[in-house]
Amino acid sequence: MAPANTISIRGAREHNLKNVDLDIPREQLVVITGPSGSGKSSLAFDTVYAEGQRKYMESLSAYARQFLDQLRKPDMESIEGLPPTIAIQQRSGGHNPRSTVATTTEIWDYLRLLFARAGTPTCWHVDENGEVCGRPITGANATQITDALHDFPEGTRMLLMAPVIRAKKGHHREVLEELQGQGVVRIRVNGTVHDLRDALREGGANPLGLARYEMHNIEAVLDRVSIKSGQRDRLADSVEACLRLGDGSLIASVENEGTWTDHPFSESFACELHPECSLPELEPRMFSFNSPFGACPVCEGLGRMLEYDEELVVPDPSVGYAEAIEPWRKNGPRMNRWYARMMRKFCDACGLDRHLPYSELPAKVRDVLMHGGDIGNISWPGVIPSLKSRHDETESDAVKERLQGYMRSTPCKACGGQRLKPASLGVRLGAESPNIAEVAAMSIVEAVAYFDKLTLGEEGDRIAAPILKEVKARLGFMQSVGLGYLTLDRASNTLSGGEAQRIRLATQVGSGLVGCCYVLDEPTIGLHQRDNERLLQTLRHLTDIGNTVVVVEHDED
Ligand SMILES: [Zn+2]
Ligand SMILES: [Zn+2]
Ligand SMILES: [Zn+2]
Repeated sequence: MAPANTISIRGAREHNLKNVDLDIPREQLVVITGPSGSGKSSLAFDTVYAEGQRKYMESLSAYARQFLDQLRKPDMESIEGLPPTIAIQQRSGGHNPRSTVATTTEIWDYLRLLFARAGTPTCWHVDENGEVCGRPITGANATQITDALHDFPEGTRMLLMAPVIRAKKGHHREVLEELQGQGVVRIRVNGTVHDLRDALREGGANPLGLARYEMHNIEAVLDRVSIKSGQRDRLADSVEACLRLGDGSLIASVENEGTWTDHPFSESFACELHPECSLPELEPRMFSFNSPFGACPVCEGLGRMLEYDEELVVPDPSVGYAEAIEPWRKNGPRMNRWYARMMRKFCDACGLDRHLPYSELPAKVRDVLMHGGDIGNISWPGVIPSLKSRHDETESDAVKERLQGYMRSTPCKACGGQRLKPASLGVRLGAESPNIAEVAAMSIVEAVAYFDKLTLGEEGDRIAAPILKEVKARLGFMQSVGLGYLTLDRASNTLSGGEAQRIRLATQVGSGLVGCCYVLDEPTIGLHQRDNERLLQTLRHLTDIGNTVVVVEHDED
């Protein structure tokens, strides 16, 4: 009989093991060490772990087992007291280009939840100077709007208006006539209140004398009130009327010591200036780059694009330009003749000697050659647009692959490599805070500091607390295995075997499983002394909660 609370191996003969008898104490940290070739891995992985896997498979139903390969029983006499085993090996981080440190550790799932529950959407409208609007996008119902207005001090005067024209060019006579037909008496045009009847008495298409090519704002003034307690009903009626005419929007112009300030309100989640920037309620899937609800539509959530690189398309610019386009000269005889004919047309059109080196083409001609445009008497499609449509239209993987040889992977211009659609990237935990992609760009150490300081107001903190607890715990596990330097958005397929192993270890610590046997190979490889101590603490934690940890180490220290 095996001693209690041990894993008892008798007569292990796998690979180079020579009839080894061994008792491994359970719920302890056990290190197997020795020179290479002494059978450390044969014992830990090919015997202990392999048998654990086999037993696990045997515990499955016959139905489930038919889909799995039969596992061979390791060469040994007997093994007793073996709990379920989990191997944490040094394998690289897989090949899925979408997988990141944050997604494999579930941190991303909690961040998505956090941003959906506690995030504030901000307007993602970009103006002609490339500036992002950034105004918070909030929604309120008629009762909340009425309450907000009623809360102004007694006697405050205000105009209640329905926005009708927002930043639109034109004279807008038809709109004004329609408003008059609906009984509107006063309008505010670009900030000045007019009597609508007076304005329309002027004939012609342009009763307000609006500059035709400038943007205009027009609101219908539906009520002038001064706040009195006990007159909430009238206020509520006017708010409703404004929201009806203003398509869910209302502007209250409020007086304070002689100055009037606009307070915009909206029923829908939309920017007050850019109503096209509107959102449904925030949902976690909006922050998933693997979902069409979240992914940047241009790069489909990869964050990178393959684009033709001129230096690859023209590898030798000292060659005559007619011969310089490499992908047009390596197509097989038929296509080569076709492209040569096209090139002759271009040479005739630009009138330059076909032997002129590509590098000596005038910049304008070179630009048209590559990107298309009018030249001489022809309209030239451009080398790169032609290559693009060839790549998009071909059914042949071989052609696609060959053409991809002339491309380089660059960050997606639409999302700047942040992988999500603009609406999702506009959601922040407070106005000046980073968005979810900017949080993911932090290292684990930076993220710990960020979340420690994060405050979201009383209500926000209450909502976020249970989610933040999970995020912080996982960040802590990652730190405890010495991975604090990794950024959350680091692609899994760029991790070293040791890093991937420690992430799996951190995930196991987070799972809180008890009564398992973990088998690890050289988990300390590449770690600094300080991180070594931490890793040891982590392994001790696993044994403290009732697991057995078997570590294979080549070094004896
Ligand atoms: Zn008009
Ligand atoms: Zn906006
Ligand atoms: Zn993109």
